[in-house]
Amino acid sequence: MTPATHHRDMIYLDHNATTPLLPDALEAMQPYLTEAFGNPSSYHRLGRQAKAAVEDARKKLAGLLGALPREIIFTSSGTEADNLALRGVAHALQPKGRHIIASSIEHHAVLKTCTSLAGDGWQITYLPVDANGLVDPDDLRRHIRSDTILITVMHANNETGVIQPIHEIGAIARRCGVLFHTDAVQTFGKISLDVRAMPVDLLSVSAHKVYGPKGAGALFVKNGVSVAPLMTGGRHERNLRAGTENVPAIVGFAAAAAQINKALPAESARVAALRDYFEKRVQELIPGVKINSKNAPRVPNTSSISFLSIESESVLLHLDLLGICASAGSACATGSTEPSHVLQAMGLPAEEAQGTVRFSLGHGISERELDLTVKALIDTAGRLRIISSVAAAS
Ligand code: PLP
Repeated sequence: MTPATHHRDMIYLDHNATTPLLPDALEAMQPYLTEAFGNPSSYHRLGRQAKAAVEDARKKLAGLLGALPREIIFTSSGTEADNLALRGVAHALQPKGRHIIASSIEHHAVLKTCTSLAGDGWQITYLPVDANGLVDPDDLRRHIRSDTILITVMHANNETGVIQPIHEIGAIARRCGVLFHTDAVQTFGKISLDVRAMPVDLLSVSAHKVYGPKGAGALFVKNGVSVAPLMTGGRHERNLRAGTENVPAIVGFAAAAAQINKALPAESARVAALRDYFEKRVQELIPGVKINSKNAPRVPNTSSISFLSIESESVLLHLDLLGICASAGSACATGSTEPSHVLQAMGLPAEEAQGTVRFSLGHGISERELDLTVKALIDTAGRLRIISSVAAAS
C-alpha cells in the first residue's frame, strides 16, 4: 500500500484527531477538482460523470460496511452524520415518543445534539460508564421506557479507544423495538465492520479518520428506518441530505477507505503490537504513569496515559517543541481548561484527568519513532516534575 504522506520532521501520534491523505485517494480526487467538475444533478455528460463517481463511491463504501448502496447517505462530516441520526430519528419518530438514551462518554457531536434536543422538549437519559469506560448493558435495559425511540452508544471512544459491547446493546434495543445508532467514526478503518452482523440501525463514519479528505462523512441508515432530513433543498441523497454533493471528497473517502480496509488485518496487528510496546516502555521507564482502560477491549491504535502531578498541556507543549504531535483528551477539548468529560465519567481523579495525554498511532509509525517519543517523555516528565516540586515548595 502506498504510505500516506507524513511531515518529514514530525512524529505524528494524533491519528484519532485526523489522518494524512493517502496519495492514491488524492489521485482519485484530482479529476473531480479539475476537469470533471460537473454537478451530479445535471443531465449532461459532465453531470452524469460526477453522478457515476458518487454512485461508485457509495457502492464501494457500502461494500466495505456490508450495507446496501441505498443505505449510505453522504454527509459533510462525522458530526453531520451524528446530527442526522439523532435529530433525524427524533423528528421522524416524534409521534411514538420523545425519550433518547445516550452514553455519557459520547463525542460532542452526539452529546451537544442531545443537549439541543433536550432544549426542544426531548428527554435524554445519560448512561454512566465504569472505571474502564464501559457501558453496562443491564443498566441500559433498566432505562428503556415505552416512549424510548433511540439508543446511541459509540462504537469506540476517541479518547481511550475503548470498544463498547454494542452487540449486547443492539440486541437489547432490538428486543425492545428501539432504534440503535452507533458512532463508528473511531472504529471504521481500525477494526472491520459489517452492519449485517451488527445489530445497528444507524452508524456514522468520517473520511478524514480513514486517510481520506476532510469534509466528507456518511450515515448508514438501515433499510426501512425513518429519518427526517436536517437540510431543506434539493432531492439529493434520497431526500435525506439536500445540498450538492462534495464529489471530490466523496470519491477520496471511498478510495481511502477501500485501501485502508484492504490492509486492515495486518496493519491492525502491527499497530496493536506497537501500541503495546509503547505502553510497556512508558510504564517501565517513567514513574507515576497510569495507562487508562488498559485491560478493556480497545481499538489497536489508541493509548491514553495519565502522568501524575503533571499538566497535560505542559507535556504537549514540550512534545510539540520536539516535533511530536499528541493530544490531551479529544482535540476539540484542546484550549479549554475543562477536564475531559470522558475521563470524568470514568471516575478519574481531577489530578489524573488533568495529566492525561492521548497517543494515537497510525500508518507512518514504527518502533523507532516510539522509542524517540518515550525518550522525549522521560525528559519531559522529569523536567516538569522538578518544576512542579519547586513550585510546591516555594
Ligand atoms: N465522533 C467521534 C467519535 C469522533 O472522534 C469525531 C472526530 O473527532 C467525530 C464524531 C466528528 O467527526 P468529524 O470530524 O468528521 O466531524
